[in-house]
Amino acid sequence: MVSSKIEICEVGPRDGLQSEPRIWTVEERVELIDRLSSTGVPRIEAVSFVNPKRVPQMADAEVVMAKIKRPKGVKFAGLALNAMGAERAIEAGVDEVRYVVVASETFNQRNQGATINESLVGFSKIADKVVNAGLKLSATVAAAFGCPFEGKIEVDQVAKIASKLVDGGCVEVGMADTIGSGVPTQVTELLSVVRHAVGSEIGLGFHLHNTRNTGFANAAAAASAGILFLDASVGGLGGCPFAPKATGNIATEDLCFMLRNMGFETGIKIDAYIETSLWAETFFDTPLPGQIMKAGLFPDTVTG
Ligand code: ZN
Repeated sequence: MVSSKIEICEVGPRDGLQSEPRIWTVEERVELIDRLSSTGVPRIEAVSFVNPKRVPQMADAEVVMAKIKRPKGVKFAGLALNAMGAERAIEAGVDEVRYVVVASETFNQRNQGATINESLVGFSKIADKVVNAGLKLSATVAAAFGCPFEGKIEVDQVAKIASKLVDGGCVEVGMADTIGSGVPTQVTELLSVVRHAVGSEIGLGFHLHNTRNTGFANAAAAASAGILFLDASVGGLGGCPFAPKATGNIATEDLCFMLRNMGFETGIKIDAYIETSLWAETFFDTPLPGQIMKAGLFPDTVTG
């Protein structure tokens, strides 16, 4: 049975801001996260524990984590790609550690500076630390639909990596359409193959980009097929700085509007989200890609 609840993981403060050339101050990042955590969103990917020399937008993750409000019912995740990152994440007090392996060998080597196998070995090294610290361990298979360097990615390749990550100790696997090339039929196929590979106990979700305008159709397909979570970004902030031409996380409030009117519960106050998107937009020279922030809700008397 398809659950009527979908857990939204807001990735704007990490995936979103990381892709923006303007570096937000710690105070601005804290305000963004605090605004988001008051909207009813249950999960926020708030920070990244990568080398600040490589990703200066994500420097001072510890300071951000120390300054944000921690409302009950909201879980805060941090990205970690190696043992040092995982130790920093544990020390900084995140609820969840997210790890990424790219499904394409070339992209993984360019993005993570390691082969896929080395990334999987790296994952097993951080898994014990994270689990023993009592934190949730989540993994993402990036470029799960296509790669800017290698082209189409086979579903079996994604399933193979997903099951290795599960063997390594994660309780959840996200499949990311990093370059926004997927279509709904691919979403359902990938979901079914990965589900078969990892078993029924593992939470599955998607991280979808709207690069080619299929992000929301893909999210609808994923929701209808039965998933635990969807990543999305406030106002559609951000893309991926390491993937050529990749733009456009799907906007969280647009996703919540669509899911709500399809009969799914997200627990999110969409009005509050729109306000946050409009606030975030003031930091940029160009409009954010979100559409509901421009068009408004329909019917506009319904909130939540
Ligand atoms: Zn993204």
